[in-house]
Amino acid sequence: MASQTGAIVQQSLNALMGDSSFLPLVQGQRREQAFQSLAAILSTPNKVHKAFLRIALEDGNVVRIPAFRIQHNDALGPYKGGIRFHESVNEDEVTNLAALMTLKNALHEVPFGGGKGGVVINPRSFSEKELYTICKKYVQYFSDILGPDKDIPAPDMGTGEREMDWMMAEYKSIHPGSPYLGSFTGKSLVSGGSLGRREATGKGVYFTFRYMMHDFIRDNIGWLAGSSNPFAATALAYANKPMSIAVQGFGNVGSVTAMEAYKCSDIRGKVVAVSDRNVTLYNESGLDIPALVEYASTNRGDLPSTEDALRESGIAGELLDREAVLYLNVDVLFLAALEDQIHGNNVNEVKARIIVEGANAPITGEADEILTSQGTIIVPDILANAGGVIVSYFEWLQGRETQFYSEAEVYRQLFAKMQKTMNGILPAYFGDPLSLRQNCFVHAVTKLSSVLYRQGKLY
Ligand code: GLU
Repeated sequence: MASQTGAIVQQSLNALMGDSSFLPLVQGQRREQAFQSLAAILSTPNKVHKAFLRIALEDGNVVRIPAFRIQHNDALGPYKGGIRFHESVNEDEVTNLAALMTLKNALHEVPFGGGKGGVVINPRSFSEKELYTICKKYVQYFSDILGPDKDIPAPDMGTGEREMDWMMAEYKSIHPGSPYLGSFTGKSLVSGGSLGRREATGKGVYFTFRYMMHDFIRDNIGWLAGSSNPFAATALAYANKPMSIAVQGFGNVGSVTAMEAYKCSDIRGKVVAVSDRNVTLYNESGLDIPALVEYASTNRGDLPSTEDALRESGIAGELLDREAVLYLNVDVLFLAALEDQIHGNNVNEVKARIIVEGANAPITGEADEILTSQGTIIVPDILANAGGVIVSYFEWLQGRETQFYSEAEVYRQLFAKMQKTMNGILPAYFGDPLSLRQNCFVHAVTKLSSVLYRQGKLY
């Protein structure tokens, strides 16, 4: 497992070992053994599936494309997690992302285990027909291990409704008569998807930030002021202050997060910067996010990246280089692009005191430690970006019952679930020296371990 998740799982276990309320029935040497079993279970996936998809390209060439499905843990339910199409996909990365899914689902009490898939391609270099073939082949190669009660994929970077519809259709033709609606989530509405699923991750990311940095602080200002915890001090410094916001990434997660921040006038946050794979756009008095969303929707998802394009778009702002978004003098930075964006070599240039992880693992372990020691509030991926998988769960339920919720109902249930998780964690976080990430891991590992213990898996 890639280092940060592994190291934090270990730290969480160390923190739990001395806590007598954790696994109270297991004492003495048995306790030591139980912790070792737990560490082994969490740091290794249950199963690694790898295939080379044989794809005939439109120009007549045949290529073999590496593809993965990694099933990390199913103690809490069927494996669940997205399929990523990206050229940097590799086994270690997918394994780490699968482990994060196990922890994310445990943290939010979503009755699924953790899995993840990946295909080593840049989807922009393939035609629609070729992508269709890749999706079909992926399901053919892995058809035995997937299914509504076994392993349920969803979109991730480089995939969306279109790919899920194709994949579900292939699953349906391989398994006639099966309850196929639950085999994939993140499908289009006409194929049995859920209202609100596409926006769910971004909406959840912004909701997490807003609930934590606004509602929770407002309601707890008294005891927060009396806490000696450095994160409480950072939070209080922002209690009644308008915040400037930067968003890295303008894909499905970043653009929705930016839009939510733009719409949310009651905490008077202003989005001053957004970025994508080409450029950072900056405007000290606030960017016109709806206009940028509109622009991206007609320009293959890209922001205007040249002076000419920006002028023609009529959007007021300044062009900066792609990485500049990370180093601006802003209060809040949302990371909604790739992993490992803030690392040992650039961490000292980051000025935001509140960082929210919309992407999975965008901060390396080394950078995380440095920022945390400075009192920077880092809202970790498994807490902030779970909106996608939570609404995937609602989609799976709706497919089972063939009863569909209204959009308002989806968001009501989504926010209620995320709020419940935060209420279980924030008081501890603002009162003890562990980082929010460690608090979340401890919470998730506690849940997992009691289930594993009851099921006799810790011997
Ligand atoms: N890919 C998303 C994630 O990383 C969603 C997974 C899902 O809906 O299963 O959480």
